Amino acid sequence: MTTEILKTALEKGLKGVGLSATEAIELTSIPDDQIYVILSISEQVRRRHKGVEVNLCAIVNAKSGLCKEDCAFCSQSVKYSTGINEYPMKPASTLVEAAREAEGYGAREFSIVTSGTKIEKDKDVSILIDTLSAMKGSVGMERCASLGILARETLKKLKDSGLESYHHNLETSRSFFPNICTTHGYDEDVEAVKAAKETGFFVCSGGIFGLGETWKDRIELASTLKELDVDSIPVNFLNPRPGTPLEKSHNLTPFECLKIIALFRLMLPAKDIVVCGGRQVNLRDLQPLIFAAGANGMMVGNYLTTPGRDPKDDLKMLDDLGLIPRGH
Ligand code: SF4
Repeated sequence: MTTEILKTALEKGLKGVGLSATEAIELTSIPDDQIYVILSISEQVRRRHKGVEVNLCAIVNAKSGLCKEDCAFCSQSVKYSTGINEYPMKPASTLVEAAREAEGYGAREFSIVTSGTKIEKDKDVSILIDTLSAMKGSVGMERCASLGILARETLKKLKDSGLESYHHNLETSRSFFPNICTTHGYDEDVEAVKAAKETGFFVCSGGIFGLGETWKDRIELASTLKELDVDSIPVNFLNPRPGTPLEKSHNLTPFECLKIIALFRLMLPAKDIVVCGGRQVNLRDLQPLIFAAGANGMMVGNYLTTPGRDPKDDLKMLDDLGLIPRGH
């Protein structure tokens, strides 16, 4: 049975088709002590579609905290006392400076991220437009943003100002979402992804794992992302934040994280799979195995509200693995 599903995963993966949801259930039932058999398949599939190149993304938290939503994992929600640093939109000069710094430590994609589900003030849109214009002239990275559920006119304005890629996570499956967020509906997030695609952006949409979701939920999320035909899938692992409802949820093991990455590579074989938040705390010394599991990208530098590790260590890790940062 195990041999059969791995053979199917390899054949379909190499062709770029990917496992169906029913086949994926079988894959996830392979016990943890056979993780290396799964990795030997996911590594081949990643190499077929992505070679030895790795995308390095960096972000800036442009507007922090004070969000009216209640996402149970998030330290930026106004509903929880998490003691994070809260501030309104940073000025364009500060955002451009953060982009230059990220370029300096090796990132090739730079995302401006804001808390909340929308950009409410015209002033904030103007800051974003100024930032994008300045980046076009002085920073050689891809310009990305994660700004919530935006009106199509705003998306169009940002695209015309030089934004290339738009990020909006679905976070988890439609079935599990009400356990995580009660202040907006799943369809609003799906619509945001569709709007970004229809505006012509390269679209990143993925989720966060370790919230208490089941393998069935993870497969449901992967199936939805497949249907939406997103370009890149950010994979985050919960780093429980003090003060949030999930502060005590230490649900993941390094093997489980690797299996999650492999699941996404084998269901969506030709897409970008980018490991983002929670890498260090959840993978620990198994971080280099994310590439064998199928990742072809990772976030470098700091996360939104928590520090990342020294980018030099990440570049060294890639070099030791014989992998090459894209664009270097
Ligand atoms: S994940 Fe985004 S929408 Fe949800 S609480 Fe955090 S900042 Fe708000």
